[in-house]
Amino acid sequence: MKEIILLKEGEIAIKGLNKRSFEDAMVKNIRRRLKPMGKFEYERSQSTVEVKPLDDDVDFDAVEECISKIFGIAAYCRAAVVEKDFERIAEKTMEYVSEELENARTFKVNAKRADKQFPMKSPEICAELGGRVLKKFPHLTVDVNNPDVVVTVEVRRDFAYIHTGNRKGAGGIPVGTSGQAMLLLSGGIDSPVAAYMMAKRGVRLSAIHYVSPPYTSDRARQKVERLCEKLTPWCGDIAFYCVPFTKIQEKLRDNCPEELFTILMRRLMMEIAQRIAEEKDIQALVTGESVGQVASQTMNAIVCTDAACRMPVFRPVIGMDKTEIIEIARRIDTFDISIEPYEDCCTVFTPKHPKTRPILAEVEAAQNVFDFEPYIKEAVENTELKVIRSDRA
Ligand code: ATP
Ligand code: MG
Repeated sequence: MKEIILLKEGEIAIKGLNKRSFEDAMVKNIRRRLKPMGKFEYERSQSTVEVKPLDDDVDFDAVEECISKIFGIAAYCRAAVVEKDFERIAEKTMEYVSEELENARTFKVNAKRADKQFPMKSPEICAELGGRVLKKFPHLTVDVNNPDVVVTVEVRRDFAYIHTGNRKGAGGIPVGTSGQAMLLLSGGIDSPVAAYMMAKRGVRLSAIHYVSPPYTSDRARQKVERLCEKLTPWCGDIAFYCVPFTKIQEKLRDNCPEELFTILMRRLMMEIAQRIAEEKDIQALVTGESVGQVASQTMNAIVCTDAACRMPVFRPVIGMDKTEIIEIARRIDTFDISIEPYEDCCTVFTPKHPKTRPILAEVEAAQNVFDFEPYIKEAVENTELKVIRSDRA
């Protein structure tokens, strides 16, 4: 074992009696996600989880990258593992943190001696190791108050750990501890960000996507599957439902007032999403709507959409500007796929002048002119399911 990762729990640590089950969920998520990268052992103590590789050839950069996206981890720390011998510790320190020391101007050494049998006391370790660092990196000076780098040595029961402190984790709470929701996932920028935000609060997500062949291409659908793949590091496995929506859109075009087309389409999307959600014991819907962004997202339009919903609809980006949403999309790496120019079913038959202030009674009356039920049933029956897995190698 050359390196380990120490994980610090955030909110989980204050969950009182439920702490254990939150911790179990987090470790289960980590196990699953790290499975393709090798064998690991997990040791828990006092709101810290130690991830120890059982093989020596683990790609630790990949492990770190993976860990940094798992919700429930407030901070993590990657450490070198060495024998509890001062010479070995000093030697390893020069090598393991050399890059950070080269780029720093000031440093200090912080020693923690959990094993009181170790022959040097903490201040001695600090003084001796600090001296050696200064000798090897003469451009550095010691600053005990505000150093650029804190070289930390922890002498524990079996080994000594060397690291330079905590890095920020993904935060939030473990996926799977806050129930399940069905995300309406388009190929756009907003809905993948909505997924990230709900997963951060522990919600396990399924995704539903509507396609209208031949008006929308298979590449548009593949694009959304790729978005799901990009989301799995954050969200875990995603059950991806693809709904054939062409007939419903054609019936809408032929039977309903053009200016209400979009709002009626959105109500029917919600209806189908709820039927599949109910079947799967999923309790809520999630969309990437942001109030005022487009005609279908005015307050009146949202009132008309919500009136078609029996379950809560979460809209985590509702109060965000596009620039703020884009900032997150870039960080979670969905942005570049989202801006690929494939058509979405929302842009098929869109009216030139959609009603921005639809009145619910009018919308309901327009929908009642035609019997959509058989088409809804058919769409649900022909929906295809594909599970996008988070543990693929
Ligand atoms: P996005 O960037 O997420 O596509 P948008 O700003 O383009 O959002 P709309 O096209 O009005 O907004 O869609 C609003 C929301 O409706 C989306 O965030 C998504 O949740 C859902 N949605 C839109 N089109 C589809 C689709 N083809 N399949 C599934 N959900 C969709
Ligand atoms: Mg869209």
